Amino acid sequence: MLELLFLLLPIAALYGWYMGQRSARKAQDNQNNKFSRDYMTGLNFLLSNQQEKAVDFFLSMLQKQEQEDSDSVNFETEFEAELTLGNLFRSRGEVDRALFIHQKLDENPNYSIEQKLLVKQQIAKDFMKAGFYDRAENYYIMLLDEPEFAIHSLTQLMNIYQRTKEWEKAINIGEKLLKLTPQSDTIPLSHYYCEYSNVLNSSQKPYLDLLHKALTVNPNCTRASILLGDYYFSIKNYEAALIRFKKIIEQDPTYISEVLDKIEQCYIALNDLDRFESFLYRANEIKHNSIIDLALIKLIENKEGIIPAKSKLYQQVSQYPNILTFQRFIQYQIEEAEGNGKKSLILLDKMVDISISQREKYHCLSCGYKSFHLNWLCPSCRSWETMKPVESIDKIL
Ligand SMILES: [Zn+2]
Repeated sequence: MLELLFLLLPIAALYGWYMGQRSARKAQDNQNNKFSRDYMTGLNFLLSNQQEKAVDFFLSMLQKQEQEDSDSVNFETEFEAELTLGNLFRSRGEVDRALFIHQKLDENPNYSIEQKLLVKQQIAKDFMKAGFYDRAENYYIMLLDEPEFAIHSLTQLMNIYQRTKEWEKAINIGEKLLKLTPQSDTIPLSHYYCEYSNVLNSSQKPYLDLLHKALTVNPNCTRASILLGDYYFSIKNYEAALIRFKKIIEQDPTYISEVLDKIEQCYIALNDLDRFESFLYRANEIKHNSIIDLALIKLIENKEGIIPAKSKLYQQVSQYPNILTFQRFIQYQIEEAEGNGKKSLILLDKMVDISISQREKYHCLSCGYKSFHLNWLCPSCRSWETMKPVESIDKIL
């Protein structure tokens, strides 16, 4: 029902303007008034969620209109009725019928340029619904220069290029959209820069420029920070890599586990594990993460010995129960146990290990989709950056 309202609202808004422009000459004809009343009856069927009745009503209404003397035809109401009928077919998945009606309207010489633009937008939507993105693209490109249609067309072109993975085109359209609507969501555009940089070789000059652009449009783009950190890590500039990796705890600390190993390797290369320890405490203060707990316990064990490490682990397991720290807890217990108790703990460790290896490591916060791999674009709900590492959101064992 709500979908139908959304279907009708843009047309109603735009068409209201056209109708207003012509209201002076519109109202006199009784025949036309009847047709308008009929149209409202059809709309009422739609609004009361009686789609079948609405379709039948609109079809018979338009057939009657065709049989009338052409001089008495109210083209405006007929146009609106046909446009709505086409949209109704599209919303029911009958795209062929929607296209037939909309294309017929597009070819009708009785309609104005403004009405034709409205029709072209609906044809583009029909093609989108049918998955003919190249045809939809042509229509949306035609509408780009029309102020009333530009923002919608740019948004849809961005969706098309995102689906077809034409990242350079997606960037171009995303930048135009950002100029027209500076308050728009910049997360998709920042990922287009990252996606395009992935296509290039990191030795090519635009590679770093693209990642910096991603951070300019979206300063919280953790993906760009990870890619920049990876770049500096690959050329062994560890301090520069650390600056990028550590920025993630300010941008979105849920992703810090993605780079924790590399942060450790940077500090090892710089022979400065004290700074690594300080970083781990700070990161856990900002947002607790069991992966950080494990890194911290390993560091304490290497630096101060097993007893302080165990003590820290018991403290963390009690405060933040999690399967990863629980497994480490069992492993410490195995070292101390003997006989059958030890055998039972070894079996438990294996079972926990299987459980950990079988569970998905990433969850989408938007739709609940689970995956073993990090997808920056959720394959299910197609939202950017909504898939998060489980350890950052799951505190339950
Ligand atoms: Zn999702």
